[in-house]
Amino acid sequence: MAASSICVFTGSSFGARESYREAAAGFGERLAARDLRLVYGGGSVGLMGVVADAVLDGGGEVIGVLPEALVDKEVGHDGLTELIIEPSMHARKARMASLSNAFAVLPGGIGTLEETFEVATWVQLQILDKPIGLLNVDGFFDPLLGFLDQLVTEAFLREEHRAIVMVEDDPDALIDRLLSAQTPRTDKWLDRS
Ligand code: AMP
Repeated sequence: MAASSICVFTGSSFGARESYREAAAGFGERLAARDLRLVYGGGSVGLMGVVADAVLDGGGEVIGVLPEALVDKEVGHDGLTELIIEPSMHARKARMASLSNAFAVLPGGIGTLEETFEVATWVQLQILDKPIGLLNVDGFFDPLLGFLDQLVTEAFLREEHRAIVMVEDDPDALIDRLLSAQTPRTDKWLDRS
């Protein structure tokens, strides 16, 4: 069995650029080559499906965690090492988090962003102590990173909490950081003034 598990959040669409598909396939290939298990949303569609297929093609393990509602829509991937069905989206996210050592975020839409910020919020509140990082394919996340900086400038986010969301543009560099990272220890509620 793989030593560590990486949870991937990414689009259920392919996105506009071929580079997104290539990055998703490349990331999955690196997970398999490094004997890292993929945990993800369980879908066969879009970049999610591309990552899962690449891990499976590379001989790696993939655990999909689907909510019941999406099973009925028949978008689940039927070739996974294991498919876990959870009753709700919330139960599914909690299960994905408990099965994983770290989170990698690839280009995607609002589902991807929602998952990313829920994990970052859990880390900020010290409910969860696992690293999360973005794979910044072709500068896809640059506007989001700029907005996170604005949150700091406008005093809605501490510098040390801004650092929760790591960023790399190379898959191996991102995996290395995720596997060696320490999450911040600053209590969100220390500064009540
Ligand atoms: P989005 O970025 O809006 O395309 O949403 C993608 C994220 O939401 C993925 O990381 C999944 O966990 C979840 N998700 C959205 N659509 C699906 C689907 N059809 N099957 C499984 N998970 C999905």
